[in-house]
Amino acid sequence: MKIALIAHDKKKNDIVQFSTAYKSILEEHELYATGTTGLRITEATGLKITRCQSGPLGGDQEIGAMIARNEMDTVIFFRDPLTAQPHEPDVSALIRLCDVYAIPLATNMGTAEILIHGLDRGDLKWRKVLHQRREEEADEGR
Ligand code: PGA
Repeated sequence: MKIALIAHDKKKNDIVQFSTAYKSILEEHELYATGTTGLRITEATGLKITRCQSGPLGGDQEIGAMIARNEMDTVIFFRDPLTAQPHEPDVSALIRLCDVYAIPLATNMGTAEILIHGLDRGDLKWRKVLHQRREEEADEGR
């Protein structure tokens, strides 16, 4: 599964803590992150992460584009609801795209814990079925 990890500045310590706690699950998946979040997690855990631009410089939009292309399976996005973000429109757009494409999205630690346990249990296998179906359709030229 492809997992996107994003955290606003005041939530970076939380996502590092989360990634450390769930490293054994996360390392079985393909990880993506916005720039600074990815750097912080890699430094703390050694997890291999494909880093996009920093959020305010377009990283949220890069991840949004992956969602629109059906290339992202789930998003863990620790938002800071108490601080104004210069890239608020990008944040809203990313959340909106998750809803458009029914991509599981956790915006806080509580939901992220449930999501990661569900992922580990296989609750997101329907995403793999969807990918297979899309590939078959592409092969058949549909
Ligand atoms: P960052 O971006 O990981 O580069 O800090 C996250 C964000 O602010 O959306």
